[in-house]
Amino acid sequence: AAAALGLQAVSAVAAIRDVVIEHEEALGNLDAIAGDGDHGIGMRRGVDAAAAAAQKTANLPGGTSVAAILTAAGEAWSEKAGGTSGALWGTAFIAAAAALGNKDSYSSQDAADAVGAFSNAITTLGKAEPGDKTMVDAILPFRDAFLTAISSGTEVIDSLKEAAVVSRDAATATSALRPLKGRARPLAEKSLGHPDPGAISFSLIVERLGQHFEQ
Ligand code: ADP
Ligand code: MG
Ligand code: MG
Repeated sequence: AAAALGLQAVSAVAAIRDVVIEHEEALGNLDAIAGDGDHGIGMRRGVDAAAAAAQKTANLPGGTSVAAILTAAGEAWSEKAGGTSGALWGTAFIAAAAALGNKDSYSSQDAADAVGAFSNAITTLGKAEPGDKTMVDAILPFRDAFLTAISSGTEVIDSLKEAAVVSRDAATATSALRPLKGRARPLAEKSLGHPDPGAISFSLIVERLGQHFEQ
């Protein structure tokens, strides 16, 4: 069971890589409106390294634990991505991995704990508040919707899909905000009317994970 879960972790990271690659150019263009235009390439570099590290860890003798695979993925993501979002994604991956730990099976509560740890790691490291126009504006509504669905007894995959829709709407709604954190802040007026790149990439990723786990 542990080996199968490890392979699921590897394929989940590969699914994240695929959706980032599909949207790499669009994410870069979005970041170029008021930022420095590197959100696509930065996410791509980070997730390419994360997917390779996950696969490599799964291939090690005894390396198939979910926690080991996701920790290696997070470390590689932080190291290779560069940029604010890479440090945040890498750190959040490592926090989610620690919350999951090594088990033969995972409960709905484990999934909720991992999402909570991911979200806390982002806000602890980045210190962005809701409304600052960052990925936090997509992550907190995602977390809240996911935890609410899980605690009302909804299956993990359905909870993920419901929360992904909430996250997509929240990411789109950042268009109305002025950025208060990150590189986009000096060009805040240009950013009005366009969503935050990091919020959009987060919502694309959780949406894809919902589709991925459904199969
Ligand atoms: P950089 O800003 O270093 O060029 P990216 O372009 O890859 O890095 O990422 C930009 C995204 O990072 C923003 O769209 C925003 O969502 C996110 N971001 C920036 N600063 C913070 C922060 N302090 N907390 C959370 N997210 C942040
Ligand atoms: Mg950037
Ligand atoms: Mg940059």
